[in-house]
Amino acid sequence: MAAGLAFESRAFIDDAFVDAASGDTFESRNPATGEILAQVASCDEPDAERAVAVAREAFAGGEWSRLAPGKRKRILLRLADLMEAHKHELALIDTLDMGKPISSSLGDMAGAIGCIRYQAECIDKLYGEVAPTGEESLALVLREPLGVVAAIVPWNFPLMMTAWKIAPALAAGNSVILKPSEKSPLSALRLAALAREAGLPRGTFQVLPGFGHTAGKALALSMEVDCLAFTGSTQVGKQLMQYAGQSNLKRVYLECGGKSPNIVFADCKDLDQVASHAAAAIFHNQGEVCIAGSRLLVENAIREEFVERVLKAAEGMQPGDPLDPDSFMGAIVDETQHRRILDYIRQGVEEGARLRSGGQPLDGPGLFILPTVFDGVTPSMTIGREEIFGPVLSVFGFDTEEEAIFMANDTPYGLAAGLWSQDIDRIMRVTRRLQSGQVFVNNWAGGDQTMPFGGVKQSGNGRDKSHHSLEEYSELKSVWMALQTE
Ligand code: NAD
Repeated sequence: MAAGLAFESRAFIDDAFVDAASGDTFESRNPATGEILAQVASCDEPDAERAVAVAREAFAGGEWSRLAPGKRKRILLRLADLMEAHKHELALIDTLDMGKPISSSLGDMAGAIGCIRYQAECIDKLYGEVAPTGEESLALVLREPLGVVAAIVPWNFPLMMTAWKIAPALAAGNSVILKPSEKSPLSALRLAALAREAGLPRGTFQVLPGFGHTAGKALALSMEVDCLAFTGSTQVGKQLMQYAGQSNLKRVYLECGGKSPNIVFADCKDLDQVASHAAAAIFHNQGEVCIAGSRLLVENAIREEFVERVLKAAEGMQPGDPLDPDSFMGAIVDETQHRRILDYIRQGVEEGARLRSGGQPLDGPGLFILPTVFDGVTPSMTIGREEIFGPVLSVFGFDTEEEAIFMANDTPYGLAAGLWSQDIDRIMRVTRRLQSGQVFVNNWAGGDQTMPFGGVKQSGNGRDKSHHSLEEYSELKSVWMALQTE
């Protein structure tokens, strides 16, 4: 119980809230205060097996999988309406559970609800195909749901990442089992109650809280799961591909980590505004963002003065009470992540980068870290290469366009990249050569439901959002009908 809220903390299996078969639980804590919010059901293999069997039975029964798309649409739109009606409660749960500022959680709700509405609206507008064969046949290409989809998601945008997976998977007619992160399980369980109220049939949507190496691994190794929809680290993404190979070659769609370059050319307009965007690109959501603009590449001709402007912008982005609507940054999700970020900062100093601001935790209770800026970072430094997932910006200098492109691509990741310039020829030259799932030109993190979101290289192989995501959760069936021509 916190802030007058009672949290559902049991798993949602077979249309009912239940304890884990073992009776085990784990703690959910508010990282801003240390307060225990709930003891959450810690699911493991027996719970996963049960949920998978229920999901499989529901899929075979056809109450959802064979329901006319227009009827699925209506139920999903009802779910979105219920989420809208409860958006403040859902946002509050995410903020209490993982420390993000309430303004950011409310933004996530808009993203989550918008995604469910968009995918619901898409599903009765997708046509199959008639292949252009001769008159002696009628060749149909049908789109069918896959079966059982397990969605395994992270903690940094708990409900929004959930919606990006479950909306297209459900719209396409699959049965979905969601495993939220053990660091932020509570909003998913509230969502389960809303999904039941919206009318999703029994076994169509289930939620299995638990750890990765228990509940997550059991789902990933299951012979009866047809698809893994994953958002999380590259390291775990690689493991999931192995699990698929060890089991039933299930489809594996990965949205993984990043170390995104944000390139500022000397010809860009309004340096103050660009600096403010560059700071927000890393400090938004405490830097716990897959597309954080964590590598700032600045043309050396303006680097000194530009870094000063970034430092000034960062001063206005200090961490504060996550429940205060004016806080730009909140708390770091847990002690492990807090320690990890501070270790990276220490390494940055030891390897010779110039610490220009922050680098410290905030005194007092709660897990807060000041916005941290390192200048003079080189590509060989650990902080310049590895995903920190915290409020730590690494600034690099470059002299030529060619050098900027090389440095931007010199990473195993390829999730996002940004560039700031007024020269349209340069913008297109550089954009085409950036190895990245998305490129932001004169902005950072722009996009909406109509745009696919995902990475290349070791940032993953899937695409969330837009009608393209529906393709991932459906299978093509080719039907060749022989016809008599006379
Ligand atoms: P994580 O990989 O540690 O965990 C993600 C999920 O996988 C959690 O639910 C976890 O319990 C589960 N998991 C862990 N080990 C598992 C295993 N062996 N088998 C099955 N499941 C397992 O990542 P995280 O710390 O929760 O999230 C941070 C990472 O997520 C960062 O790398 C970030 O860049 C990435 N991320 C990517 C995107 C994107 O769209 N590309 C979006 C958000 C976050």
